[in-house]
Amino acid sequence: MSQREWIEKDFYKELGVSSGASQDEIKKAYRKLARDLHPDSNPGDTKAEERFKAVSEANAVLSDPAKRKEYDETRRLFAGGGGRGYGGGFTPGGGGGFSQEFNLGDIFGQPGGPGAGDGGLGDILGGLFNRGGRASSRPRRGADVETETTLGFREAAQGVTVPLRMTSPSPCTTCHGSGAKPGTSPRVCPHCNGAGVVSRNQGAFGFSEPCDDCRGTGSIIDDPCTDCAGTGIQNRTRTITVRIPPGVSDGQKIRLAGQGEAGLRGAPSGDLYVTVHVSQDKVFGRQGDDLTLVLPVSYAELVLGTTVSVPTLEGRVGVKVPPGTADGRILRVRGRGVPKRGPAGGAGDLLVTVKVAVPQALDADATEALKRYQEAEKASGFDPRAGWAGA
Ligand SMILES: [Zn+2]
Ligand SMILES: [Zn+2]
Repeated sequence: MSQREWIEKDFYKELGVSSGASQDEIKKAYRKLARDLHPDSNPGDTKAEERFKAVSEANAVLSDPAKRKEYDETRRLFAGGGGRGYGGGFTPGGGGGFSQEFNLGDIFGQPGGPGAGDGGLGDILGGLFNRGGRASSRPRRGADVETETTLGFREAAQGVTVPLRMTSPSPCTTCHGSGAKPGTSPRVCPHCNGAGVVSRNQGAFGFSEPCDDCRGTGSIIDDPCTDCAGTGIQNRTRTITVRIPPGVSDGQKIRLAGQGEAGLRGAPSGDLYVTVHVSQDKVFGRQGDDLTLVLPVSYAELVLGTTVSVPTLEGRVGVKVPPGTADGRILRVRGRGVPKRGPAGGAGDLLVTVKVAVPQALDADATEALKRYQEAEKASGFDPRAGWAGA
Protein backbone atom coordinates (compact mmCIF):
# COMPACT_ATOMS: atom_id res chain seq x y z
CA MET A 1 0.00 0.00 0.00
CA SER A 2 1.39 3.39 -0.92
CA GLN A 3 1.49 6.30 1.48
CA ARG A 4 -0.99 8.04 -0.76
CA GLU A 5 -3.56 5.30 -0.29
CA TRP A 6 -2.82 5.38 3.37
CA ILE A 7 -3.94 8.98 3.49
CA GLU A 8 -7.05 8.40 1.46
CA LYS A 9 -8.31 5.39 3.39
CA ASP A 10 -10.52 5.83 6.39
CA PHE A 11 -9.47 3.07 8.73
CA TYR A 12 -11.89 4.18 11.45
CA LYS A 13 -14.77 3.76 9.06
CA GLU A 14 -13.52 0.31 8.08
CA LEU A 15 -13.67 -0.79 11.71
CA GLY A 16 -16.88 1.11 12.40
CA VAL A 17 -15.43 3.12 15.27
CA SER A 18 -15.06 6.84 15.90
CA SER A 19 -11.70 8.56 15.45
CA GLY A 20 -11.64 9.05 19.19
CA ALA A 21 -12.10 5.35 19.94
CA SER A 22 -9.91 3.82 22.64
CA GLN A 23 -7.42 1.06 21.82
CA ASP A 24 -9.75 -1.34 23.60
CA GLU A 25 -12.75 -0.36 21.47
CA ILE A 26 -10.64 -0.79 18.32
CA LYS A 27 -9.52 -4.24 19.44
CA LYS A 28 -13.10 -5.36 20.14
CA ALA A 29 -14.45 -4.00 16.85
CA TYR A 30 -11.72 -5.72 14.90
CA ARG A 31 -12.21 -9.11 16.60
CA LYS A 32 -15.91 -9.13 15.80
CA LEU A 33 -15.43 -8.10 12.16
CA ALA A 34 -12.58 -10.55 11.65
CA ARG A 35 -14.71 -13.38 12.95
CA ASP A 36 -17.70 -12.43 10.76
CA LEU A 37 -15.67 -11.82 7.60
CA HIS A 38 -13.09 -14.60 7.89
CA PRO A 39 -12.76 -16.51 4.56
CA ASP A 40 -13.27 -19.82 6.42
CA SER A 41 -16.75 -18.64 7.45
CA ASN A 42 -17.51 -17.21 3.98
CA PRO A 43 -16.16 -19.65 1.39
CA GLY A 44 -16.24 -18.18 -2.14
CA ASP A 45 -17.55 -14.79 -0.99
CA THR A 46 -15.10 -12.37 -2.62
CA LYS A 47 -16.78 -9.32 -1.13
CA ALA A 48 -16.32 -10.67 2.36
CA GLU A 49 -12.71 -11.48 1.51
CA GLU A 50 -12.11 -7.90 0.35
CA ARG A 51 -13.64 -6.52 3.49
CA PHE A 52 -11.62 -8.94 5.60
CA LYS A 53 -8.42 -7.64 4.02
CA ALA A 54 -9.44 -4.02 4.48
CA VAL A 55 -10.36 -4.59 8.11
CA SER A 56 -7.05 -6.37 8.79
CA GLU A 57 -5.20 -3.48 7.19
CA ALA A 58 -7.06 -0.94 9.26
CA ASN A 59 -6.41 -2.91 12.42
CA ALA A 60 -2.70 -3.23 11.62
CA VAL A 61 -2.43 0.57 11.72
CA LEU A 62 -4.94 1.51 14.42
CA SER A 63 -3.98 -1.22 16.90
CA ASP A 64 -0.42 0.09 17.01
CA PRO A 65 -0.47 3.41 18.94
CA ALA A 66 2.63 4.75 17.16
CA LYS A 67 1.27 3.95 13.70
CA ARG A 68 -2.12 5.30 14.65
CA LYS A 69 -0.55 8.59 15.70
CA GLU A 70 1.27 8.92 12.39
CA TYR A 71 -1.88 8.07 10.52
CA ASP A 72 -3.88 10.65 12.41
CA GLU A 73 -1.24 13.33 11.85
CA THR A 74 -0.92 12.50 8.18
CA ARG A 75 -4.62 12.76 7.61
CA ARG A 76 -4.77 15.99 9.50
CA LEU A 77 -2.01 17.47 7.33
CA PHE A 78 -2.94 16.24 3.92
CA ALA A 79 -6.50 14.99 3.80
CA GLY A 80 -8.11 18.39 4.06
CA GLY A 81 -7.92 18.77 7.82
CA GLY A 82 -7.39 22.48 8.50
CA GLY A 83 -7.90 23.28 4.80
CA ARG A 84 -4.22 23.94 4.17
CA GLY A 85 -4.13 23.52 0.43
CA TYR A 86 -4.23 19.81 -0.26
CA GLY A 87 -5.92 20.46 -3.59
CA GLY A 88 -3.68 20.75 -6.59
CA GLY A 89 -0.36 21.09 -4.92
CA PHE A 90 -0.02 17.54 -3.84
CA THR A 91 -1.11 15.80 -7.02
CA PRO A 92 1.87 15.10 -9.27
CA GLY A 93 1.55 17.35 -12.30
CA GLY A 94 -1.32 19.19 -10.67
CA GLY A 95 -1.97 22.89 -10.81
CA GLY A 96 0.12 23.85 -7.79
CA GLY A 97 3.40 24.13 -9.68
CA PHE A 98 4.91 21.40 -7.57
CA SER A 99 5.17 18.58 -10.04
CA GLN A 100 7.83 16.48 -8.39
CA GLU A 101 6.33 13.38 -6.88
CA PHE A 102 7.97 13.31 -3.52
CA ASN A 103 8.16 10.26 -1.39
CA LEU A 104 5.92 10.64 1.60
CA GLY A 105 7.91 7.85 3.18
CA ASP A 106 10.73 10.36 3.57
CA ILE A 107 8.52 12.50 5.69
CA PHE A 108 6.76 10.20 8.05
CA GLY A 109 7.04 6.58 6.99
CA GLN A 110 10.42 5.83 8.45
CA PRO A 111 11.32 5.64 12.08
CA GLY A 112 13.42 8.61 13.11
CA GLY A 113 12.77 10.47 9.87
CA PRO A 114 11.51 14.03 9.95
CA GLY A 115 7.92 13.95 11.06
CA ALA A 116 8.15 10.47 12.49
CA GLY A 117 8.27 12.02 15.90
CA ASP A 118 6.45 15.22 16.64
CA GLY A 119 7.82 17.40 13.83
CA GLY A 120 5.16 19.83 12.70
CA LEU A 121 3.98 21.02 9.32
CA GLY A 122 6.70 23.68 9.17
CA ASP A 123 9.46 21.10 9.47
CA ILE A 124 8.03 18.97 6.71
CA LEU A 125 7.47 21.74 4.22
CA GLY A 126 10.75 23.38 5.15
CA GLY A 127 12.47 20.21 4.02
CA LEU A 128 10.62 20.27 0.73
CA PHE A 129 11.55 23.87 0.05
CA ASN A 130 15.20 23.33 0.72
CA ARG A 131 15.31 20.35 -1.57
CA GLY A 132 13.79 22.32 -4.44
CA GLY A 133 16.05 25.28 -3.82
CA ARG A 134 19.25 23.30 -3.96
CA ALA A 135 18.31 21.62 -7.21
CA SER A 136 17.74 24.85 -9.09
CA SER A 137 20.65 26.93 -7.81
CA ARG A 138 23.51 25.07 -9.46
CA PRO A 139 26.20 27.38 -10.86
CA ARG A 140 25.68 28.41 -14.45
CA ARG A 141 28.18 26.55 -16.55
CA GLY A 142 29.46 28.13 -19.75
CA ALA A 143 27.99 27.08 -23.06
CA ASP A 144 29.49 24.34 -25.17
CA VAL A 145 31.26 25.53 -28.32
CA GLU A 146 31.42 23.71 -31.61
CA THR A 147 34.07 24.10 -34.25
CA GLU A 148 35.50 22.04 -37.05
CA THR A 149 38.81 21.24 -38.65
CA THR A 150 39.96 19.38 -41.73
CA LEU A 151 42.77 16.89 -41.49
CA GLY A 152 44.79 15.07 -44.09
CA PHE A 153 44.07 11.38 -44.44
CA ARG A 154 47.37 10.35 -42.89
CA GLU A 155 47.13 12.97 -40.11
CA ALA A 156 43.76 11.56 -39.10
CA ALA A 157 45.01 8.00 -39.20
CA GLN A 158 48.18 8.67 -37.24
CA GLY A 159 47.07 11.48 -34.94
CA VAL A 160 48.19 15.08 -35.12
CA THR A 161 48.38 18.25 -33.06
CA VAL A 162 46.59 21.15 -34.72
CA PRO A 163 46.12 24.78 -33.70
CA LEU A 164 42.48 25.93 -33.60
CA ARG A 165 41.72 29.63 -33.72
CA MET A 166 38.44 30.57 -32.09
CA THR A 167 36.63 33.69 -31.09
CA SER A 168 34.52 32.98 -28.08
CA PRO A 169 33.61 34.40 -24.70
CA SER A 170 36.36 33.83 -22.15
CA PRO A 171 36.84 34.85 -18.54
CA CYS A 172 37.69 38.55 -18.35
CA THR A 173 41.43 38.95 -17.80
CA THR A 174 40.98 42.18 -15.82
CA CYS A 175 38.64 40.85 -13.13
CA HIS A 176 39.42 37.16 -13.60
CA GLY A 177 35.79 36.47 -14.31
CA SER A 178 34.36 37.90 -11.09
CA GLY A 179 32.74 40.87 -12.86
CA ALA A 180 33.80 43.20 -10.05
CA LYS A 181 36.28 46.05 -10.50
CA PRO A 182 39.77 44.92 -9.40
CA GLY A 183 40.18 45.58 -5.70
CA THR A 184 36.48 45.10 -5.01
CA SER A 185 34.47 41.93 -4.78
CA PRO A 186 30.85 40.96 -5.33
CA ARG A 187 28.69 40.77 -2.22
CA VAL A 188 26.17 38.10 -1.37
CA CYS A 189 22.69 38.98 -2.62
CA PRO A 190 20.65 39.90 0.46
CA HIS A 191 17.35 39.04 -1.20
CA CYS A 192 18.14 35.35 -1.80
CA ASN A 193 21.08 35.02 0.61
CA GLY A 194 23.28 33.92 -2.26
CA ALA A 195 21.10 31.04 -3.34
CA GLY A 196 20.14 32.68 -6.64
CA VAL A 197 16.60 31.43 -6.19
CA VAL A 198 13.71 32.48 -4.02
CA SER A 199 10.84 30.36 -2.80
CA ARG A 200 7.33 31.48 -3.39
CA ASN A 201 4.51 29.96 -1.37
CA GLN A 202 1.26 28.88 -2.85
CA GLY A 203 -1.09 27.22 -0.45
CA ALA A 204 0.80 24.71 1.63
CA PHE A 205 3.45 24.27 -1.06
CA GLY A 206 6.07 26.47 -2.60
CA PHE A 207 8.23 26.57 -5.65
CA SER A 208 11.52 28.22 -6.49
CA GLU A 209 12.23 30.86 -9.09
CA PRO A 210 15.39 32.78 -10.03
CA CYS A 211 16.08 35.80 -7.83
CA ASP A 212 15.33 39.08 -9.64
CA ASP A 213 17.76 41.19 -7.64
CA CYS A 214 20.85 39.20 -8.69
CA ARG A 215 19.46 37.58 -11.84
CA GLY A 216 19.98 34.18 -10.33
CA THR A 217 23.72 34.57 -9.75
CA GLY A 218 23.48 34.89 -5.97
CA SER A 219 25.78 37.92 -5.83
CA ILE A 220 25.51 41.67 -6.39
CA ILE A 221 28.31 43.72 -7.95
CA ASP A 222 28.46 47.34 -6.74
CA ASP A 223 31.53 48.37 -8.79
CA PRO A 224 31.41 46.52 -12.11
CA CYS A 225 34.63 45.79 -13.95
CA THR A 226 34.82 48.30 -16.82
CA ASP A 227 36.42 45.89 -19.28
CA CYS A 228 33.57 43.41 -19.21
CA ALA A 229 30.73 45.60 -17.90
CA GLY A 230 30.37 43.32 -14.89
CA THR A 231 29.67 40.16 -16.83
CA GLY A 232 33.04 38.60 -16.10
CA ILE A 233 33.27 37.64 -19.76
CA GLN A 234 35.21 39.05 -22.70
CA ASN A 235 35.14 38.05 -26.33
CA ARG A 236 38.59 36.90 -27.14
CA THR A 237 40.26 35.26 -30.06
CA ARG A 238 42.33 32.46 -28.80
CA THR A 239 44.35 29.74 -30.37
CA ILE A 240 44.32 26.46 -28.64
CA THR A 241 46.40 23.49 -29.56
CA VAL A 242 44.34 20.39 -29.91
CA ARG A 243 45.78 16.92 -29.88
CA ILE A 244 43.72 14.80 -32.26
CA PRO A 245 44.14 11.14 -31.35
CA PRO A 246 45.15 8.63 -34.03
CA GLY A 247 42.39 6.78 -35.83
CA VAL A 248 39.84 9.59 -35.95
CA SER A 249 37.42 9.21 -38.84
CA ASP A 250 35.61 11.64 -41.11
CA GLY A 251 32.67 13.36 -39.39
CA GLN A 252 33.72 12.35 -35.91
CA LYS A 253 33.20 14.77 -33.03
CA ILE A 254 35.91 15.16 -30.43
CA ARG A 255 35.07 16.59 -27.00
CA LEU A 256 37.58 18.77 -25.22
CA ALA A 257 36.39 19.26 -21.67
CA GLY A 258 36.48 22.80 -20.30
CA GLN A 259 37.57 24.43 -23.59
CA GLY A 260 34.17 25.92 -24.37
CA GLU A 261 32.64 29.21 -23.26
CA ALA A 262 33.52 30.60 -19.88
CA GLY A 263 30.88 30.31 -17.20
CA LEU A 264 29.25 33.42 -15.80
CA ARG A 265 31.30 34.97 -13.01
CA GLY A 266 33.71 32.16 -12.52
CA ALA A 267 31.33 29.21 -13.02
CA PRO A 268 32.87 26.23 -14.87
CA SER A 269 33.49 26.55 -18.59
CA GLY A 270 31.58 24.54 -21.17
CA ASP A 271 33.14 21.98 -23.46
CA LEU A 272 34.54 22.35 -26.95
CA TYR A 273 33.40 19.95 -29.62
CA VAL A 274 35.57 19.67 -32.71
CA THR A 275 34.05 18.01 -35.75
CA VAL A 276 36.83 16.49 -37.79
CA HIS A 277 36.72 16.27 -41.55
CA VAL A 278 39.19 13.96 -43.18
CA SER A 279 40.32 14.58 -46.75
CA GLN A 280 40.66 11.75 -49.24
CA ASP A 281 43.95 10.09 -49.99
CA LYS A 282 45.21 9.19 -53.47
CA VAL A 283 46.31 5.71 -52.41
CA PHE A 284 44.53 4.68 -49.23
CA GLY A 285 40.95 4.26 -48.17
CA ARG A 286 39.53 3.28 -44.77
CA GLN A 287 37.11 0.73 -43.40
CA GLY A 288 37.05 1.41 -39.67
CA ASP A 289 40.52 0.55 -38.40
CA ASP A 290 41.47 -1.21 -41.62
CA LEU A 291 43.38 0.61 -44.30
CA THR A 292 42.41 -0.28 -47.86
CA LEU A 293 44.55 -0.16 -50.97
CA VAL A 294 44.03 -1.20 -54.59
CA LEU A 295 47.12 -2.92 -55.99
CA PRO A 296 47.34 -2.79 -59.80
CA VAL A 297 48.89 -6.00 -61.17
CA SER A 298 49.45 -7.55 -64.58
CA TYR A 299 47.68 -10.70 -65.68
CA ALA A 300 50.99 -12.53 -65.69
CA GLU A 301 51.70 -11.48 -62.10
CA LEU A 302 48.40 -13.01 -60.96
CA VAL A 303 49.00 -16.24 -62.86
CA LEU A 304 52.65 -16.71 -61.99
CA GLY A 305 52.64 -15.08 -58.57
CA THR A 306 54.92 -12.31 -57.35
CA THR A 307 55.86 -10.17 -54.38
CA VAL A 308 55.03 -6.46 -54.66
CA SER A 309 56.25 -3.63 -52.46
CA VAL A 310 53.24 -1.53 -51.31
CA PRO A 311 53.10 1.69 -49.28
CA THR A 312 51.72 1.74 -45.72
CA LEU A 313 51.26 4.61 -43.26
CA GLU A 314 54.81 3.94 -42.11
CA GLY A 315 57.21 2.70 -44.76
CA ARG A 316 56.58 0.00 -47.32
CA VAL A 317 55.78 -3.67 -46.95
CA GLY A 318 56.24 -6.61 -49.34
CA VAL A 319 52.92 -8.23 -50.26
CA LYS A 320 53.09 -11.77 -51.63
CA VAL A 321 50.65 -12.48 -54.48
CA PRO A 322 50.39 -16.29 -54.68
CA PRO A 323 50.38 -17.99 -58.13
CA GLY A 324 46.87 -18.33 -59.52
CA THR A 325 45.43 -15.38 -57.55
CA ALA A 326 42.01 -14.31 -58.88
CA ASP A 327 41.49 -10.71 -59.95
CA GLY A 328 39.76 -8.73 -57.18
CA ARG A 329 41.05 -10.95 -54.34
CA ILE A 330 41.79 -9.15 -51.08
CA LEU A 331 45.12 -9.87 -49.43
CA ARG A 332 45.36 -9.02 -45.74
CA VAL A 333 48.50 -7.61 -44.14
CA ARG A 334 47.96 -7.83 -40.36
CA GLY A 335 48.65 -4.86 -38.10
CA ARG A 336 49.53 -2.39 -40.85
CA GLY A 337 46.23 -0.49 -40.77
CA VAL A 338 45.03 2.48 -38.71
CA PRO A 339 46.11 2.68 -35.05
CA LYS A 340 43.24 1.61 -32.80
CA ARG A 341 41.93 4.04 -30.22
CA GLY A 342 41.42 2.97 -26.66
CA PRO A 343 43.66 1.36 -24.06
CA ALA A 344 44.12 -1.94 -25.93
CA GLY A 345 46.17 -0.25 -28.63
CA GLY A 346 47.29 -2.14 -31.71
CA ALA A 347 46.25 -1.38 -35.26
CA GLY A 348 43.85 -2.59 -37.91
CA ASP A 349 44.96 -4.45 -41.02
CA LEU A 350 45.99 -3.36 -44.47
CA LEU A 351 43.57 -4.81 -47.03
CA VAL A 352 45.16 -5.07 -50.46
CA THR A 353 42.78 -5.64 -53.39
CA VAL A 354 44.53 -6.91 -56.54
CA LYS A 355 43.25 -5.47 -59.80
CA VAL A 356 44.47 -6.38 -63.24
CA ALA A 357 45.77 -3.46 -65.31
CA VAL A 358 45.10 -4.13 -68.99
CA PRO A 359 47.59 -2.57 -71.45
CA GLN A 360 45.94 -0.27 -73.99
CA ALA A 361 48.44 -1.17 -76.70
CA LEU A 362 51.20 -3.75 -77.11
CA ASP A 363 54.18 -3.70 -79.43
CA ALA A 364 54.50 -6.30 -82.19
CA ASP A 365 56.66 -8.70 -80.17
CA ALA A 366 54.32 -8.71 -77.16
CA THR A 367 51.24 -9.04 -79.39
CA GLU A 368 52.82 -11.98 -81.18
CA ALA A 369 53.75 -13.63 -77.91
CA LEU A 370 50.23 -13.10 -76.52
CA LYS A 371 48.64 -14.68 -79.58
CA ARG A 372 50.92 -17.71 -79.18
CA TYR A 373 49.96 -17.81 -75.50
CA GLN A 374 46.28 -17.70 -76.38
CA GLU A 375 46.65 -20.77 -78.64
CA ALA A 376 48.59 -22.64 -75.98
CA GLU A 377 46.01 -21.74 -73.32
CA LYS A 378 43.20 -23.09 -75.52
CA ALA A 379 45.17 -26.25 -76.23
CA SER A 380 45.68 -26.78 -72.46
CA GLY A 381 41.88 -26.93 -72.09
CA PHE A 382 41.36 -23.62 -70.25
CA ASP A 383 37.88 -22.20 -70.86
CA PRO A 384 37.20 -18.90 -69.03
CA ARG A 385 33.43 -19.47 -69.43
CA ALA A 386 33.41 -23.14 -68.40
CA GLY A 387 30.98 -22.31 -65.63
CA TRP A 388 28.41 -21.21 -68.23
CA ALA A 389 27.99 -24.68 -69.70
CA GLY A 390 24.35 -25.05 -70.72
CA ALA A 391 23.52 -21.38 -70.11
ZN1 LIG B 1 36.02 42.07 -16.07
ZN1 LIG C 1 19.51 37.17 -5.32
